[in-house]
Amino acid sequence: MNPNYDFTKIPFDRIVHLGQISMLESDLFTVSWLLGRYCNFKCSYCWEHGRSDKVDHRPTELCLKTIDQIKGQARANGFNSFHFSLSGGEPTLHPGYFDILEKLARDKPYTNYTSIHMTTNLSKNMKWFEKYTEYAKEFNRASITASYHKEYMKDKSLFASKLQYLESAGVHTTINMVMVPDLFDELWDVANYFKNKQLNVTLKPQSDPHANYVVSGYTEEQLKILHNEMKQEINNQATMQVRMIDDQGKEWYMDQAERFNAFNFNCFKGWICSSGFRSIIIREPCGSIKRSYSCIDEPLGNIETGFDLFLEPTICKSPSCVSSADSKIPKRKDGCVIPLWK
Ligand code: SF4
Repeated sequence: MNPNYDFTKIPFDRIVHLGQISMLESDLFTVSWLLGRYCNFKCSYCWEHGRSDKVDHRPTELCLKTIDQIKGQARANGFNSFHFSLSGGEPTLHPGYFDILEKLARDKPYTNYTSIHMTTNLSKNMKWFEKYTEYAKEFNRASITASYHKEYMKDKSLFASKLQYLESAGVHTTINMVMVPDLFDELWDVANYFKNKQLNVTLKPQSDPHANYVVSGYTEEQLKILHNEMKQEINNQATMQVRMIDDQGKEWYMDQAERFNAFNFNCFKGWICSSGFRSIIIREPCGSIKRSYSCIDEPLGNIETGFDLFLEPTICKSPSCVSSADSKIPKRKDGCVIPLWK
């Protein structure tokens, strides 16, 4: 893809169909699993319920059983490719983390495709990451989003070298940076430090406490950076994660759904959305299983008592779709006749 692709040209008000390309073109079912809120960091800006000092992990056996239930229901809905995205809190602190990867790896030959992802503060030591890469190579794709937390960043070069090691072992990485308006210039310098080390950086705008819209305080210049800079690359080629179609049938692309919020493109109320049918989220500490993070729908169930996937794509009732895990799930505007996927 052209590395100069200009996201500001996308006619967001005329988009009628969108989705993560891998979901549009395959039978991929996605699971976003928040393994617990327990975290070894205590960032001053973390949301009240974003982290906990209390260890709140579900037993490993229950997690493994839940994987079987997810796969059984997803297969019944016609999906036999899987993407498991593990986050927290800090997911690497779950005592059964490698047991979960091992279970997914064991079933991989019986799937059409399996990929794993984690969002981590990258605090584990190199030995842990060496073990992680042994598991990661069992999958079709493994990727990591490493959250940059300024207050805990004693050694930027160690942070960078862990990611360079992961990249060399075939794990795709990106560094997640929330570009707080007051610290924008400082964070932009840090982002360029990593970029100069050939590492991908995801620039995220700061959102209001309900994550519905981008906070005020950005200059025009800063918004331009959030809209178009730090495109995701693999081997120096721009990569696109999301495909959109406008009301004239023209296709448009975006490197990461995270960028949607920088354009305030996150309202899909009334659209037909496939979350809950071909994707779920599991969140703690309540153990709730929902169609997506943003959705106001009743939960599909609970990790302790079971859940039921939707049997077909269902209308979005929610005022905004704020997490990129949600917004990239295939969906189309009411009245659009383009099939949701191939
Ligand atoms: S809020 Fe939920 S139902 Fe609505 S578009 Fe987002 S994921 Fe789909």
